Amino acid sequence: MSNKDFYEILGVARSASDDEIKKAYRKLAMKYHPDRNQGDTEAEEKFKEVQKAYDILSDKQKRASYDQFGHAGVDPNMGGGGFGGFGGFGGAQGFDFGDIFSQMFGGGAGGGRQQNYQGADLQYAVEITLEEAAKGIKKRITIPTYEECDVCHGSGAKPGTSASTCSTCHGSGTIHVRQAIFQMQQTCPTCHGTGKEIKDPCVKCRGEGRVKTSKTVEVNIPAGIDNGQRIRLSGEGEPGMHGAPSGDLYVVVHVKEHKTFERNDLDLHCEMPISFAIAALGGEVEVPTLDGKVKLSIPKETQTGRRMRVKGKGIKSLRSSAVGDLYCHVVVETPVNLTERQKELLEEFEKISTGMERSQTPRQKSFFDKVRDIFD
Ligand SMILES: [Zn+2]
Ligand SMILES: [Zn+2]
Repeated sequence: MSNKDFYEILGVARSASDDEIKKAYRKLAMKYHPDRNQGDTEAEEKFKEVQKAYDILSDKQKRASYDQFGHAGVDPNMGGGGFGGFGGFGGAQGFDFGDIFSQMFGGGAGGGRQQNYQGADLQYAVEITLEEAAKGIKKRITIPTYEECDVCHGSGAKPGTSASTCSTCHGSGTIHVRQAIFQMQQTCPTCHGTGKEIKDPCVKCRGEGRVKTSKTVEVNIPAGIDNGQRIRLSGEGEPGMHGAPSGDLYVVVHVKEHKTFERNDLDLHCEMPISFAIAALGGEVEVPTLDGKVKLSIPKETQTGRRMRVKGKGIKSLRSSAVGDLYCHVVVETPVNLTERQKELLEEFEKISTGMERSQTPRQKSFFDKVRDIFD
């Protein structure tokens, strides 16, 4: 055994209290306990060191002797004489590991659960048009996935051989590691949680039991689906390893921006430019909807910003029989590229309109009234 300083071994100060020594010891003893470090000779040595240091420092008389004489004061092999008889490493004296473990972890550190090797959930984005969202559509999508290896039929072992129980975790798929005094379960690094060790792996799948491939899935996208909504296809995700169930496939729907319509819940909105003449005189215009054009009558004296509703031409609800409406937002459009004749007529119109602002253009009148209020 080494002659390392006992205080150093436990990582405590020379002035440490009995309590501090005990705490440090518990921590280290758990870390290096042979049950937890099977086959690790370095840990075993450390454990013995820790044990010995604690044997000495937890005993008032031995500690005093060690403080005064160093190793010579406590170790019979060091020759010091006189103080002999303490013996060497003698196991976990005065300290019951069972107690600590059951206190800390509610009844023993055994157990360990077979790692769940269920396949991963997959997410796939699909882009559709607003028309497709409104009517619903079947989409075929091709997704990368795995399938059972046809050479080893999923076992991962070369044909004619078979997997054996993992020697590291004894088939449980997990090992116990400690951080400070807490014990945690970790996936076994040897078998990666399968609990099985493949000595002679299948050449095609390299022991995984599955190979990469792609599959085509038909997705039924229901009428009324909105941008960002997900459709879950149970069991269509990645297949599990070693016979575990497959994950789910989530199809996230992205609805492309539409050049005419904007969706807001079940309603659709669009801008509706109309001519100055129609706006003034009223008339009929054709407006597009997601299923063909409809005629809409514009009342006379319609202003920009007026909202006209076309009932039932929105989106059908995904969950109920409700259907949204289409709202057309009027924009009175200033004509461009006028012919000479049109200009003449408009100039004449303007001439005969002078002096009639009060009754004919109430907004203009109120606007100029305000300007006057500010500057006069
Ligand atoms: Zn294989
Ligand atoms: Zn293992």
